Amino acid sequence: MSGRILLVEDNPANQLLAAAVLERDGFEVVVVESAVDALTAIAFRTPDLILMDIQLPEVDGLTLTRQLKADPSTAAIPIVAMSAHAMTVDRDNALEAGCAGFITKPIDTRLFADQVRGYAQLETAEAGS
Ligand code: MN
Repeated sequence: MSGRILLVEDNPANQLLAAAVLERDGFEVVVVESAVDALTAIAFRTPDLILMDIQLPEVDGLTLTRQLKADPSTAAIPIVAMSAHAMTVDRDNALEAGCAGFITKPIDTRLFADQVRGYAQLETAEAGS
């Protein structure tokens, strides 16, 4: 499965690594570094999956997630949180905000594309049932 991924990430090194791994695997990746830019990108073209850094400047990733999930035009887009904070409470907060899953940073480049594909397929299967 390939697909369009919107990567919301403000760290340049993390942007490059995640985008390179996903593009090598056949995904089309759009990278933005803020909530405002994410909303613009989503309005331009709806992604199949959003990878959401939790720590963003100004509007944080979970606030943006709640905003997208509250809007009927974007609520169906699966969102996977990404954070270096891997405590249970961080995962719980991400799921509570509406995220479909949680990926810990730094990413494991051997597993990352499969993790993303798994979340995308999970959501596709749910949408089709
Ligand atoms: Mn960040």
